Amino acid sequence: MLASQNKDPNTGSLPSRVTNMASRFLARQSRSKLLTMRGGAPTVTFTFDDVPASACERGAQILEQYGARGTFYVAGSGCGASIHDGPQRASIDQLRAIWANGHEIGCHTYSHPAVRYMSFDELGSDLNRNQSVLKEIDNSILLRNFAYPYGDMSVRTKRYLEARFDSCRSGHAGINNTVADLGALHAWPLYDASLDRIKIARLIAETVQGNGWLIFYSHDVAERPSRFGVSPDLLDWAVGAAKRAGCTLATIADGLELIGARRAQSDATSSQILATES
Ligand SMILES: [Zn+2]
Repeated sequence: MLASQNKDPNTGSLPSRVTNMASRFLARQSRSKLLTMRGGAPTVTFTFDDVPASACERGAQILEQYGARGTFYVAGSGCGASIHDGPQRASIDQLRAIWANGHEIGCHTYSHPAVRYMSFDELGSDLNRNQSVLKEIDNSILLRNFAYPYGDMSVRTKRYLEARFDSCRSGHAGINNTVADLGALHAWPLYDASLDRIKIARLIAETVQGNGWLIFYSHDVAERPSRFGVSPDLLDWAVGAAKRAGCTLATIADGLELIGARRAQSDATSSQILATES
């Protein structure tokens, strides 16, 4: 594996960051898995990436207090480890506990690479490895939804991943409205460092008004969160605000059903969702 695969492409040299932005932009323009959303209730989804142990503990607990469940996009190579002095990652036992409580486990690759640099063979092996590691949670588990590590994508890898998974979540800020790109669902970072109650309230109001699907993503849930994490207080407030506004709180899998995505096959390794071009 290339060393550059495991580095955050958003923090490289200026030319590499420009290339990264251009690659993402082109991938987002390649809207090849579009779904015209069924106009149901406005929906809000809370997701966690990597995932830190605190997301499985405090994060899951807060959601459950509101009768909600979240989606946890796990990169299996980090299970139980503390990586790069970052927050402690959840163990298989912790993941099994949230799975048993009805939360969704999604795929975030096994080794957390920037997927753009990978061949399909490398990427396929990495995804298979994640699936087989996370089967330790429960033998019946199938990873149906994906989140791009670092938000990194290219036209080529987006096509590959959207064919393999029901949905892929991007790191591109926005609310999914009217037509959803299941190969790059919009999502907002729920970080104390970048979002406050006023902004969250605005996003929820916009979601209600447009009957949209608002997806949040975060990492650790701690009193003093990392710059990619959220405090229990802000997470609690966001979940409560979504509920008070009358939004349906759903996992990614449930959100897909609510917007009218239909599963075509039960085979985990082929394209599962029938999306309509519009
Ligand atoms: Zn990640």
